[in-house]
Amino acid sequence: MSPNALEMNRLCVHTMTTRPWPLEIAVREYADAGVGAITVWREHLEPIGGNEALSILDASGLAVASLCRGGFFASSSADARAAAIDDNRTAVDEAQAIGAPLIVLVCGSAADQALDLSRGQIAEGIAAVLPHAEAAGVKLAIEPLHPMYADTRSAINTLAQTNDMVEQLDSSSVGVAVDVYHTWWDPELEAEIRRAGDSIFAFHVCDWRVPTRDMLNDRGMMGEGCIPIKQIRSWIEAAGFDGWVEVEIFSDEYWELDQTVFLEQIVRAYNAHC
Ligand code: ZN
Repeated sequence: MSPNALEMNRLCVHTMTTRPWPLEIAVREYADAGVGAITVWREHLEPIGGNEALSILDASGLAVASLCRGGFFASSSADARAAAIDDNRTAVDEAQAIGAPLIVLVCGSAADQALDLSRGQIAEGIAAVLPHAEAAGVKLAIEPLHPMYADTRSAINTLAQTNDMVEQLDSSSVGVAVDVYHTWWDPELEAEIRRAGDSIFAFHVCDWRVPTRDMLNDRGMMGEGCIPIKQIRSWIEAAGFDGWVEVEIFSDEYWELDQTVFLEQIVRAYNAHC
């Protein structure tokens, strides 16, 4: 295997990055492009179910990095919090069904209550799901989200808060997902990556467009924005992480492209900028 092939083997693509493709096509295209692994979004799992997904994934030779996503534990409604816990247990079952070792958690936030209250509910929610996840052998990775999402998507906005929660939950099945899009601005990032150490379960890359035109669906291709991806990757690897480099791009603009051409761009950008 050439060094380049070895490096390519660390590349993982999220199905949401190539959102228009159903799982079967995404899997075939990723494998043809030399991608090493796939992270499956539940939106792409739901139309076919776990059994069919497993046979598609098994036949492809791709590794399954994770299932995206669980979480959304925070709510002012007790019924909604209970439903979220049930849904996360279902996600654990789905992860187990497709051989995903990990679920990424976007933890949730509720704009009608204080962030501290949401954080407490998130810790309670993860603790409630944890025994089921441990029994299934599925790990849970808390992904801190950029503070612009603190209103409704996550009350966990820094890696420091994430590390605090991981320490509080005190299980080898709970760790962190470091996404450069959400964390690059943080002056404590290097120190908190070092602190996270072997609880770093996942590493997500894309870029921050200047200017960013949409808060959700305007993520950039690696190299077209202002995130020092290679530097952050060097910190992650110095902390001991040797897992996948996962390309997670939500972009109305890129979803409009021929997705095969887009995937070729991803591979080039990965080799040049990650
Ligand atoms: Zn991410």
